[in-house]
Amino acid sequence: MNLRSITAQLIIWSLAISLLPLAAAGVLTYLIGDKQLRDELQNHLLVTADSKATQITAALRRREQDVLMLSRSPLIIDAVEPLARAMKDRGIESADYVKIDNRLRSFLNYTKETAGYEDLYLVAYNGDIAFSLNRDKDFGTNLKTGIYKDTELAKVVDRATTLLATDVSDFDYYAAKSDPAEFIAAPVFNRDVVVGAIVIQIGEEEFYSLARVESGLGQTGEVAFGARRDNNVVFLTPMRIDPQAALRRKVKMGSPLAKPMQEAVQGTNGQGLSTDYRGKQVLAVWRYIPSRRCGMVIKIDHDEASAPIARLHNRLATVAVVVALFAVAAAVWISRSIARPIVQLTLASRIIAGGDLSSRADVNATGEIGELATAFNAMINEIQQRTDDLGQLTATLEQRVADRTADLEHQTRQLEQLNNELAQSNQDLDDFAYIVSHDLKEPLRGIAGFSQLLSKEYGEQLGDDGREKLDMLIRLCGRMQQLISSLLQFSRVGHAKLAIQPTKLQDLVAEIIDSMQIQLQEEHVEVRLPKPLPTVTCDSIRIGELFRNLITNAYKYNDNDEKWIEIGCQSNEDGSRDSVHAANNPVFYVRDNGIGIREEHLDSVFRMFRRLHSRDKYGGGTGAGLAFVKKIIERHHGKIWVESVHGQGSTFYFSIGEV
Ligand code: ADP
Repeated sequence: MNLRSITAQLIIWSLAISLLPLAAAGVLTYLIGDKQLRDELQNHLLVTADSKATQITAALRRREQDVLMLSRSPLIIDAVEPLARAMKDRGIESADYVKIDNRLRSFLNYTKETAGYEDLYLVAYNGDIAFSLNRDKDFGTNLKTGIYKDTELAKVVDRATTLLATDVSDFDYYAAKSDPAEFIAAPVFNRDVVVGAIVIQIGEEEFYSLARVESGLGQTGEVAFGARRDNNVVFLTPMRIDPQAALRRKVKMGSPLAKPMQEAVQGTNGQGLSTDYRGKQVLAVWRYIPSRRCGMVIKIDHDEASAPIARLHNRLATVAVVVALFAVAAAVWISRSIARPIVQLTLASRIIAGGDLSSRADVNATGEIGELATAFNAMINEIQQRTDDLGQLTATLEQRVADRTADLEHQTRQLEQLNNELAQSNQDLDDFAYIVSHDLKEPLRGIAGFSQLLSKEYGEQLGDDGREKLDMLIRLCGRMQQLISSLLQFSRVGHAKLAIQPTKLQDLVAEIIDSMQIQLQEEHVEVRLPKPLPTVTCDSIRIGELFRNLITNAYKYNDNDEKWIEIGCQSNEDGSRDSVHAANNPVFYVRDNGIGIREEHLDSVFRMFRRLHSRDKYGGGTGAGLAFVKKIIERHHGKIWVESVHGQGSTFYFSIGEV
């Protein structure tokens, strides 16, 4: 699954939102539970240990009290010395001994039974065991010199009679009885003199009962007592797991085993995790019991101690797994149900973006996503409708363009045909004008010649009226000749091949002005050339004729006393009214301060034989000059036009194209 997809994102976030608090709560519960369980167990061990310690000391104090009481009993005080003497002097069978023994025995037997002693001794000051309720092997021996002189019994008697105080022996194996035993001895005073000692033997059972495991210590809980013997720790009581441990199990001091007991026998109290005599991890509490000079350990296997914690852990883990599975399933279900319509929409948009507008979002979702899908589908319907319309419109437009193009091509062809026809007819016209003017010239010259001859030879006979008419005929012939010359000149421009060459217009114009000097002076015309004219590629004769014509018109149609003509050149942008020519193609002009031309005549002045004035006022022109000029420019692929303000002057512009 793509981790950036909406489904994955929803799943991840749902899980994060649901599982993180769950995990935090789980961990917290586990930690709190764990601590509580550990504290509870530890407290239980501590309470047990303290109660045991108190119990042991209290029991011992009671026994010590008992022995002290007995030691002060007059029966005992009075009996010790006579008994010892009788036993030593006459033996235990003697009447003296038996008498005292009987008296003592009945009293001490009762005490033993009620208090639960194992045995009861009277020891003389010299160490003789003068009395014993059980009369075992030690009876009658001397504890200072006899075979039991190194026993705990001998030691406790020695300490009691030396220190003159009640004393407790270590719990140890006692050879005379082939059993472990513990003794409490009290000195017996007779008139402030120590005469011996009374000793009670506490049976192993009483000591062992202290090590009995009480409730709350589970399956592996144990109470152990130990004492230091030389370099060893000796376990004093049978244990739950090792019933034979009493006085048999030993651990060397410094060994990694039985750590709590090693600590306890050295006088240290403590608690915590440690290693027991089996090398097992245990949760233990240890105490030193000074009254008994032994160590006590109460412990439970760590495995068992942590079992409830492990159980708690397992339960929590199970709950966490179940909840997590449920959360995952819920997250997947919720994410899919939210993401599916969006994924569907995305798929549909991709297909549509690929150009297939027939695709739709197939969504059954409700709520906002359903609305979105519906709106999306509506939008696509609209787009499809618009696209279809656009397609139709485009097709129509294309058809129209095709039709128009076909029309245009047809019209262009017709235009070309017309142009060709026009060119042909122009050519024909030129040819015709040339032929006509050329052919008319001769007969006209003949008519003029004959008319002059007629006037000369028969002028007298014709009378005034006839002469006048003949003069008119001669004048008209001259006029006709002028017209035919103009026409011939005009048609020649159309026919003759141009002599194209680079021409310095500045020189050309200067030459023309020079040649017209007489007329110009007569007419008082000032010719201005503001800046030198450039060199252009043209037919210099024709362009010279053009300048001559324009200069002549410029002073001819001028009523000013101070006439001037300006001939110049400017860039196309400034003067051209036609974009046919390149921007850098110069536009020449001939400007005057003459009579000007009315606006409505600006174009017609270039027509053949078109004159705006009577011959009487501005001399005898034929009206062909400007048509001739225009023809020259056309032959040079240029343009010519005039701008004028009536009464203020005119400016004739022209350009020369590439020839
Ligand atoms: P024409 O032989 O009469 O001079 P053109 O063809 O040269 O014939 O001129 C045609 C007419 O244009 C002229 O009759 C005149 O009326 C007018 N015309 C030509 N040049 C000018 C000018 N510079 N100023 C005013 N009018 C002019």
